[in-house]
Amino acid sequence: MKIEILNTGTELLLGNTLNTHGSWFGRQLFAMGLRVARQVTVPDGEAIREAFSEIVVRADILLITGGLGPTSDDLTREIVAETFGLELHQDEQALRILESFFALRGKPMAPANLRQAMVPTGAEVMLNPNGTAPGLYLPPRINGHSKCAVFLLPGPPRELYPMFQNEVVPRLRALAGVSEIAAVSELKFTGIGESDFHHGIDAELANVPGLEYGYCARIGEVDLRLIGSPEALAAGRNLALTSFGRHLISDDGSSLEATVVRLLREKSLTFATAESCTGGLIASRLTNVPGASDVFSHGWVTYANEAKASELSVPMEMIETHGAVSEEVAIAMAEGALQASGADFAVSVTGIAGPTGGTEHKPVGTAWLALAEKSGSTLTEKVFHPRSRKDFKQAVSQSALDILRRRLVLAS
Ligand code: AMP
Ligand code: MG
Repeated sequence: MKIEILNTGTELLLGNTLNTHGSWFGRQLFAMGLRVARQVTVPDGEAIREAFSEIVVRADILLITGGLGPTSDDLTREIVAETFGLELHQDEQALRILESFFALRGKPMAPANLRQAMVPTGAEVMLNPNGTAPGLYLPPRINGHSKCAVFLLPGPPRELYPMFQNEVVPRLRALAGVSEIAAVSELKFTGIGESDFHHGIDAELANVPGLEYGYCARIGEVDLRLIGSPEALAAGRNLALTSFGRHLISDDGSSLEATVVRLLREKSLTFATAESCTGGLIASRLTNVPGASDVFSHGWVTYANEAKASELSVPMEMIETHGAVSEEVAIAMAEGALQASGADFAVSVTGIAGPTGGTEHKPVGTAWLALAEKSGSTLTEKVFHPRSRKDFKQAVSQSALDILRRRLVLAS
């Protein structure tokens, strides 16, 4: 099935609005085992006509976003009907829904909104509980010749996303044929790079019949994408886990922070953070996960030496002797946070983000991490991530969360 996306909106090309629909559709369709073959963005108005005419002769499915509003530049509906040679008629159901949308809000309906109840003959109306623009579905060969199935969808994400799930997904499944949908698996790894896969199992993965695979490198993370029959996926997964199992974050696309929160919850354990160079990023990432409050109790950002001393009882002499970026200070921060919070685990990070402040022995990018636990022992790790400040913070937060992940996996 050749699926194409047509995003309409002048604001997308002026750069005022980031076109998030492309990547969003990509993820949604990929999760269904489908692919986007091409994505095109055009300004509002007549440019839609040319793009539409080109696409419907080559694609099997076209998803169009935007231009279903009531204003003069919202022309998608009209252009599609004209190009397919279909009459537009007022749809009673669409009109009633529009009227009740305005009645509920106590507002009169502007005459311009009447256009939104116009439907090409043979098209199906897709309900929009979150806005005034109903979506439209034009099945294949509605105009007697084009094999392309066309979906007209609203631009605002809060309208588009639910309509996609409720109205588009069932139709896509029917069109694509469930049997054709390949299984997809996304394994996330940390602590290893793409080249480890390349040298390690790439050749073996290539030998698995019917397995399509690919990598996506992020900061401190590599995703391995496996696509194919359930047997091919199992074989690919087996190869990856045999070589790199201890680096596995998740096999369902869950983030490292979500994995850490899940592991802590499963074991009814709590956690605190003492951060310097990451400026609270570890706490921020953890608290992005629903249910973090069950496991995350305290987060300190002790950036200045005085803060490390007053908040976490790190001795000033220790900082003076060993430097703020040292194994000793990382241990004292983690143990101080453990004491003050009463949590089961506390992780600390202290490092040199740069661009200045590095020395021969402690170059920019160096960070010390410590994981203190109630049972007594404290683990430490020195990492080196010479990157921009923002990427350094991400990489160090990844290393810190992974120390805890490894400790929790090991404990089970
Ligand atoms: P519409 O009136 O249906 O053309 O959509 C208008 C609004 O939807 C815009 O103001 C944007 O905020 C949003 N929107 C439309 N297309 C996109 C897109 N491709 N990515 C992100 N937001 C979009
Ligand atoms: Mg628009």
